[in-house]
Parts: sequence; structure tokens; C-alpha cells
Amino acid sequence: MDYQEIIEEVYDQVQQENLRGKVATYIPELADIHPEQFGIALVDLNGNVFGVGDYQMPFSIQSISKVHTLTMVFHKFNTQLWYRVNVEPSGNPFNSIAQLEYEKGIPRNPFINAGALVITDALCSKYEQPTKQITDFINEISGKNCVAINQAVKNSEKNHGERNTALAYFLKSYKNFDNPVEEVLDVYFSHCAMEMNCVDLAKSFSFLANDGFSIFANRQILSESHARRVNAIMLTCGFYDEAGEFAYRVGMPGKSGVGGGVAAVMPHKFSIAVWSPELNEKGNSVKAIRALELLTDKLSFSLF
Ligand code: GLU
Repeated sequence: MDYQEIIEEVYDQVQQENLRGKVATYIPELADIHPEQFGIALVDLNGNVFGVGDYQMPFSIQSISKVHTLTMVFHKFNTQLWYRVNVEPSGNPFNSIAQLEYEKGIPRNPFINAGALVITDALCSKYEQPTKQITDFINEISGKNCVAINQAVKNSEKNHGERNTALAYFLKSYKNFDNPVEEVLDVYFSHCAMEMNCVDLAKSFSFLANDGFSIFANRQILSESHARRVNAIMLTCGFYDEAGEFAYRVGMPGKSGVGGGVAAVMPHKFSIAVWSPELNEKGNSVKAIRALELLTDKLSFSLF
């Protein structure tokens, strides 16, 4: 399979379609991004890297970091974690607060903001310096020191963090939050403000395509069965309230972020990261979704 040729074809076709969306503005610092950037990096299970466009340009990974934090917490807490957060698709916007009341403080899944805050809270209970642990972990599974926290993005989100703060206190009122809210929010905003390029991001997802073993860290990151479960959660919950549509159009486990990135895996084949900042109304990158749809159409294999 000539991955380089395929991603170049995909890149060209997407560029010709001239799809447009809107960059995220609710975190003001993200609004300043040059909107037309677009890059794709694919990493196979031998570590070969294929890239096109702006694939070496670091960008704000935002919610994609929730896969990394879930991995760390799942490894530590095992199935105990599922007493605190469910694994059902939400069908609601990622920052919805209403659902949390119906479900009595147990978030629907680890990728909506409420669920990710519970995951970050659990990390804060386990680690002395949680932000450093997360950064070290992502660096390890990417095979190099590549993660930088963009302080301007972090502060921008912190200064407009009313909704996440409300979610955290709401969780606390249901006793599903153990640590001081401000402390956990600081870690949460830090991991959302991490910047990486498509290559390093794809590498950091490689273990999920490889039964839990990272060729970059040279160790088992998650057991095979845990890795499969993270993939199942990505497939059903990884794209906000558009997860069904993504599964239908693309059919790969993945996670998107409001910075315009998408990281996804084709189990036993490759991991991939696509980035372009303009989003559709559900908060997913217009070009990244289209690129992955075209890519899976061109492949001779599929998850299904
Ligand atoms: N830091 C963003 C928030 O909490 C993440 C949003 C996202 O990428 O889904 O609103």
C-alpha cells in the first residue's frame, strides 16, 4: 500500500473541494490562527512516517489530549474508573451541563468535558505533578520531547472557563470530584493547551493501532483488551455529537479537538493525524473529516 501516494491524492482532492468552516472563537487565542492550514501525517506500525501539507506545524491538540489522559487513568484505575464515568455516546454538545443532572453527576463518557474533568481529577489524585506526568507520558509515546504547553492558549481558556468551572463544581456537588476545582482545572487547561504536530500526534496514537504496544516507547502502554476498549470509546464518543456520522462516513476510532485536529487509528495498520483549523457546526474540522472519509474510501481494507 503506497500511503504517501494515497494521502497526497486525498490532500489534493480536499484542497480542490474548497470546503470552509469557522475556526473556534470561544477560546479567543485560538481565533487568531491562519484558517487555511492543512496537514496529514500517517505512521505505520513499523514507524514509517508519511506526510503532506502542514504536517510539521504544531497546533493546539485540545480535546485530543483526553485520549492520553484516559489512557493514563484507565491503566491506573482499571475498571474502577467506570463507577465515575460512563461509556455511552452523549448526542449532546461536548460542554453540555444538562445531561449531567439527569445522570446524577456521572458523565456520559470520558470525552465530553464533564467526563474529561473527572479523568483529570483522577489523575490529580494519583500524581504529585499531574501536568508534568501527562507531558512526560505523551513525549514518551511520541518517541521524542515534542509537547509544548501554549501558555497564551491556556490563559485564554482559563479566563473564559466559566462553563468548565461550572461543570467541575456540579460534579463536586454529586461527590464525583475529589480535588480542589481550581487545581484540576489548571491541569485540564494545560493538557488542552498542548501543542504538537501531526507526525508526533500520530505517533502518540500508534499504540492504539498496535494492541496497546508503543514502538516509540518500546513498551506495552495498555493491555490489548484495554486498548480495544479505548478504541471502542473513540469510535462511539470521539466526535462530539457527530460520532455516529463519523463512524458512518469514516469508520475509524478517533478523537477530534476544537483546534481542528483529528487523530485516528486503523487497528493493526496505522495511526494518522489530520489538522485544519476550520470547524463545522459540531466542532469537528471540516477538512480533516473529509480527508479521512476519502482516505478510507481509497484503502483496500476497513475496520468492518
Ligand atoms: N479545552 C476545550 C474545552 O474544554 C476543549 C474543547 C475540545 O477540543 O473539545 O472547551
